[in-house]
Amino acid sequence: MTGDLLGRHRAVLPDWLALYYDQPIEITHGEGRHVWDAAGNRYLDFFGGILTTMTAHALPEVTEAVSEQAARVIHTSTLYLNRPMVELAERIARLSGIPDARVFFTTSGTEANDTALLLATTYRRSNTVLAMRNSYHGRSFSTVGITGNRGWSPTSLSPLQTLYVHGGVRSRGPYAALDDDAFVAACVDDLTDLLGHTRPPAALIAEPVQGVGGFTAPPDGLYAAFREVLHERGILWISDEVQTGWGRTGEHFWGWQAHGRSGPPDMLTFAKGLGNGMSIGGVVARAEIMNCLDAHSISTFGGTQITMAAGLANLTHLLEHDLQGNARRVGGLLIERLRTVAAQVPAVREVRGRGLMIGIEVARPGTGEADPQAAAAVLEAAREGGLLIGKGGGHDTSALRIAPPLSLTVAEAEEGAAVLERALRGL
Ligand code: PMP
Repeated sequence: MTGDLLGRHRAVLPDWLALYYDQPIEITHGEGRHVWDAAGNRYLDFFGGILTTMTAHALPEVTEAVSEQAARVIHTSTLYLNRPMVELAERIARLSGIPDARVFFTTSGTEANDTALLLATTYRRSNTVLAMRNSYHGRSFSTVGITGNRGWSPTSLSPLQTLYVHGGVRSRGPYAALDDDAFVAACVDDLTDLLGHTRPPAALIAEPVQGVGGFTAPPDGLYAAFREVLHERGILWISDEVQTGWGRTGEHFWGWQAHGRSGPPDMLTFAKGLGNGMSIGGVVARAEIMNCLDAHSISTFGGTQITMAAGLANLTHLLEHDLQGNARRVGGLLIERLRTVAAQVPAVREVRGRGLMIGIEVARPGTGEADPQAAAAVLEAAREGGLLIGKGGGHDTSALRIAPPLSLTVAEAEEGAAVLERALRGL
């Protein structure tokens, strides 16, 4: 059945629409932290459908909110007042930490970043943008142009002038040996130097933890230090919270808060899990930035009633059940457990992360060289053991990514860790 579907997929969809696994799976349903495929196999989901499932699969409150909204009206147009959109915007504005915040809803993270770029370049009258090396921000014409991770971006003749900044990763080159303070100082120095001989940029866009890049994070405080340099020059800071938002990192609701000692970003973008699979993205910005566009800006589908109803139900569940706290507690235990395994498996170079955003770097024992084949083998072995995980990384795909729904239980964390342990020991 799946074999036939795979043939049809390959015949009609683009070659670059990649599928995981030698024998790709067709997911037919899910419940809690588990999903089932068309052959009836059950999997523990440690990737949350790449973070789209924020709370749990088939969360009853979201299912009810969506069914109830669908039975009345799915959506008409953003030209009419939309109660769930206003209510969700009010809640996100309050949660964002950005003063005088306005919220614009989109249908994806790409479109959210696209909008943030539109706002920043218009506000600052500059088409120069700073992005981080190894970044990923989406696949539209403009977001491909600020995506430093070439493994994840097709060729682009972007209209933006993009300058790439050091800081997101430090596993390579002269930065590798530096301690946290020296690393931050070196990156700030590099940024200051870059700004000394370039046209004034509109903004710096950065993921607090690089997602597609393999869940790598700079030392806390790097973006606070950057923020000072940027603000002295009027340059905006955009925090791409598409993967790090909604408490995923456990300690913080937003990734920027790990860097927040000098204050919030000027804009943040979000997407992925808010709708628990329904497509919601958005931008939060100070009013003076959000309102700098002088054209009428409408979006047909940004903020549909049905996705907003899902978002409200999902966010309410997240907050009422303190899933951020759960991510901190269960994620903390999982990281500890995986580090114990890593200490005994020479092919694991590093277990890193925070909360339920955990990266495992796989390398050739002895040389420490990235080992994408080994990472792919662990992905397959985990699937054989009934566990779905993700992969990612910089120039090479040698990191395993773990990002389960935020309601993961301790027993499920244990179960998944045992499968991972077997898969890693099998290398
Ligand atoms: N920003 C980041 C940090 C992401 O990880 C992604 C998706 N992987 C995007 C933007 C793009 O989001 P979407 O796929 O919803 O367009």
